[in-house]
Amino acid sequence: MSFNGKLRAFAATFPAEVVLPGDDGYDDARLVWNRMVDRRPAAVVRPARPEDVVAALRFAREHELPIAVRGGGHSIPGLSTCDDGIVIDLSRMRGVEVDAEHRVAHVAGGSLLGELDEAAQAAGLVCPVGVVSHTGVAGLTLGGGMGRLQRRYGLTIDSLRAVELVTADGRLVRASDDENPELFWGLRGAGANFGIATAFEFGLHPFDGTVTHGVVTHPIERLDDVVALFRETVESGPDEVMPTLAVSRDTVSISVLHCGASAQAERDLADLRALGPPTDDTIEVKPYLVAQHVADDEMEWGHRFYMKSAFLRTLPSAAVHRCAELVADAPAGTEAALSVWAWGGAISAVAEGHTAFTGREAAFWISAEAQWDDPELDAPNREWVRETTAGFMPHALVGRYVNDVAEAGIDLRSVYGEGKYERLVALKRAWDADNVFRLNQNIRP
Ligand SMILES: Cc1cc2nc3c(=O)[nH]c(=O)nc-3n(C[C@H](O)[C@H](O)[C@H](O)COP(=O)(O)OP(=O)(O)OC[C@H]3O[C@@H](n4cnc5c(N)ncnc54)[C@H](O)[C@@H]3O)c2cc1C
Repeated sequence: MSFNGKLRAFAATFPAEVVLPGDDGYDDARLVWNRMVDRRPAAVVRPARPEDVVAALRFAREHELPIAVRGGGHSIPGLSTCDDGIVIDLSRMRGVEVDAEHRVAHVAGGSLLGELDEAAQAAGLVCPVGVVSHTGVAGLTLGGGMGRLQRRYGLTIDSLRAVELVTADGRLVRASDDENPELFWGLRGAGANFGIATAFEFGLHPFDGTVTHGVVTHPIERLDDVVALFRETVESGPDEVMPTLAVSRDTVSISVLHCGASAQAERDLADLRALGPPTDDTIEVKPYLVAQHVADDEMEWGHRFYMKSAFLRTLPSAAVHRCAELVADAPAGTEAALSVWAWGGAISAVAEGHTAFTGREAAFWISAEAQWDDPELDAPNREWVRETTAGFMPHALVGRYVNDVAEAGIDLRSVYGEGKYERLVALKRAWDADNVFRLNQNIRP
């Protein structure tokens, strides 16, 4: 039987959904969030249960097809799709069950952040996750997971209790502090390398769901004052305060989420609001779930995107100045920004060696980001990001956030540091010696 015949036969017996080239919906099924990525898989398979994941994996291995695994499809380099291989798309395996008594969320492998947020908040609880609700829980968590509550409750992996996954040889295993603990260590930061996560278990935190959140915006001429205030807020503010600095062509702004009581927030944010006056101040008391959706439209599917980030211990004024000049000079037709997030707090309370994620000693995460639509701007924007980040790279600490790495095939020692990298190679040899899971930031066995 021809390969196409075998594929059709597989599709006919597969208990869940298979989308093949030529089928209605194939062009939607092959898309990922970043429109720079345009690939044509041999099939997009949408399992409904872990057993279907095993069946899809076996078929792909039998025919030596590349396997791409998709959660929310937000991978910036487009690692959740491929040419001529099988995409195992978990979008039909969604759902969050919260055990309020034990403060635990059981999350199916294809769920989105918004689903976890809503289910946890319905029980007066929270898991710290990212800032765009249509991001996948799986990809975000397996890389680390930064977000608006990170200084108070840590990275998403710091609330992770267990992962269920299908391994390269088709077994369903569980990893936690008690079961396969070394695998659990690696899953928290390099997790796309070791299997297909079909479910996650998170410990949740009591959270009344009222936050003080918004943005103060200033003209770019006030850059020095705003950066100084941001630095001061990061260095001396309590863990309830999560400020983010954004420099665009003509404005500089600080977004902030305060997750403590509103009276405390009023006091803690007074200096931030007093500078200026700002040209705009949208800070107000609101439900956490509202704050968790404010960036959804701006970061919708279908644009082209490139970025590079680093962890810093300090925020040097000269480097920020140089980056701001480059932001102002970004290619026309591009939404270009420099973004700096506060780090520290609960993130740095976890020992650096505790998880594969590397970068807990930072005080700041900094990134240059470009979003555009015209394919002609791909090369100039990549170049712009590289040039802009070159200004702060000399100050970067060892370690990068793997989920921000927009290139594929880089030396992952720069992401994990030498020691953790060697430990991850040993783990990869133990769990995926044939490198079945290689469409990721790949630890080569
Ligand atoms: C708009 C946008 C906003 C973002 N905001 C944040 C943020 O606030 N905080 C933050 O930390 N990061 C953020 N990120 C980065 C994000 O964490 C990564 O892009 C992440 O990989 C996305 O996960 P996903 O499941 O949506 O992606 P996918 O593209 O589906 O997958 C990403 C990677 O994970 C692997 N993978 C996916 N599902 C599974 C699974 N079930 N088992 C094993 N491997 C799997 C894929 O193979 C791929 O290598 C954002 C990205 C975007 C595009």
